Amino acid sequence: MTQIISIANQKGGVGKTTTSVNLSAALAKIGKKILLVDCDSQANATTGMGIDKLSLEHSLYQGLIGEADINNIICPTMMPKLMMIPSDIDLIGFEIEMVSADDRVKKLKMLLEQVKEKFDYIIIDCPPALSLLTLNAFTASDAVLIPLQSEFYALEGLGQLLDTIKRVKSSFNPGLKIKGILLTMYDKRTNLAQQVVEDAKKYFKDMVFKTKIPRNVKLGEAPSYGLPAILYDKQSQGSKSYVAFAREFLKR
Ligand code: ADP
Ligand code: MG
Repeated sequence: MTQIISIANQKGGVGKTTTSVNLSAALAKIGKKILLVDCDSQANATTGMGIDKLSLEHSLYQGLIGEADINNIICPTMMPKLMMIPSDIDLIGFEIEMVSADDRVKKLKMLLEQVKEKFDYIIIDCPPALSLLTLNAFTASDAVLIPLQSEFYALEGLGQLLDTIKRVKSSFNPGLKIKGILLTMYDKRTNLAQQVVEDAKKYFKDMVFKTKIPRNVKLGEAPSYGLPAILYDKQSQGSKSYVAFAREFLKR
């Protein structure tokens, strides 16, 4: 059975895109068939996978509004088992144009249903907002994975995110679950990072993944080469941590 996972947190810069790209690549490396969906108009996941967002003929936006067939939007990547639905700036229009459409929350679900069975996992990189696109991602998903940056204020705003998940669950998607909490940009030398881990565990107990993603230069550099970390520097701690995380993810 295909699992659809949203990677979400309305805060920017917490590691959503880094996690989407590197979890997708690590799962593909393990042999799973993956579709990575870039649901952010900033298109960082698209660029991070080496796809030129300025030269796309079709992107997620055209699929959502029914202007392009999903099979014409899905792109191959440098990894044979990893396919991608890229995004670009057009996606901004979706929020505005859909305000009065009755099924506006279900557009992504309807789109992905057409290709779902071809993949083991569909990973959706969400935008940094609890917007219509995020609601679409949650409505289409089996579960939400929440990256938490190991910094002060990490837990702030989480209540709103959890409320949104609850609302989508009761209105549109009764099966929606929380896949877990992933600590990102973790620096074990700082007391602050330890504190965030303790706080997260206090609230979320064993929903917090054991694997923590360290702050690692290679993870920051890889997107500028259009590569996931395992292709950029597979020996780096960042790359190894996402492979370890992918294995833990598969056991859940
Ligand atoms: P989001 O998608 O939540 O906005 P990103 O994944 O784009 O967050 O990460 C924000 C910035 O931090 C990016 O420049 C990214 O390359 C960098 N980054 C993310 N995770 C790490 C990490 N573990 N170590 C170092 N840099 C990271
Ligand atoms: Mg992002």
